[in-house]
Amino acid sequence: MVSPSSSPPSSYRGRLAPSPTGYLHIGHARTFWTAFERAVAAGGTLVMRMEDLDPDRSRAEYAEAALEDLHWMGIRWQEGPDLDGPFAPYEQSRRQAFYLDSWRKLLRGGFLFPCRCSRKDLEAALSAPHEDAFQNNIKQEPIDDEPIYPGTCRLGNATLPDSPAHEIDGPGNFNWRFRVPDGEAIEFVDLNLGPQRFIAGRDFGDFVVWRRDGVPSYQLACVADDAAMEITEVVRGEDLLKSTARQILLYRALAFDPPAWFHCRLVTDSHGRRLAKRHDALSLRTLRQRGLTPAQILSGEMLAAT
Ligand SMILES: [Zn+2]
Repeated sequence: MVSPSSSPPSSYRGRLAPSPTGYLHIGHARTFWTAFERAVAAGGTLVMRMEDLDPDRSRAEYAEAALEDLHWMGIRWQEGPDLDGPFAPYEQSRRQAFYLDSWRKLLRGGFLFPCRCSRKDLEAALSAPHEDAFQNNIKQEPIDDEPIYPGTCRLGNATLPDSPAHEIDGPGNFNWRFRVPDGEAIEFVDLNLGPQRFIAGRDFGDFVVWRRDGVPSYQLACVADDAAMEITEVVRGEDLLKSTARQILLYRALAFDPPAWFHCRLVTDSHGRRLAKRHDALSLRTLRQRGLTPAQILSGEMLAAT
């Protein structure tokens, strides 16, 4: 174990990034535990960042519960909303200025276009079912597997007449999409799952970076924060592999150094279904009330009973 007094601090910076939209469950616990173990093994710093961007779904009580549950698991972090630190604030709801900076940089760089499609327009254009297979034998549709954007507004600076990019101050009431380089292979080597390859325009399309309701997308906020907080390694679930490909494009467009990635296998129940927040019986709260220990939760022995 590295002693902080005798060794220079490691440059490793990892993060825990819960979304306070429900109680954490055993799947989150395992991924966060892995992130914690890797930070400790590297003698590095672990950052707690609360991903409370969605004003409709985020709740303060879930944010508090996440900190408490992870603490109960034995997971410790060195920076966060409860501890402060050099990269505060650590709640995404308080970091809008960072996201606007990145949005502006992308706009100036010519990477974005405003999209006026409604959900209905998109559904109508996408009558064909999108791919149902996914890499690494994930049986369910991954959460970030949105349909390929049909390109309706791609040439769409016409939707902002007389407004060259340098004169636009803010996102206004548009969805803004990132124009992906069609046909380009986005490749990276995941530290856990090995080489990954996604084709822009085929595996994922022009994705939203800013929503018309004034909220940046997960993709933009995640990249802006990981870069600003100098994160060197991102540990998260394998359901986000395709998001990593999208985020690599954002890193490149923003001229930020990308971190390394370590995607964890997802926990499934005894029927092979991925755990979701609605699996209340597997929330850390419930398991703890039933008298289970953190070690039993990490071993997954209770999954057999679900
Ligand atoms: Zn559109």
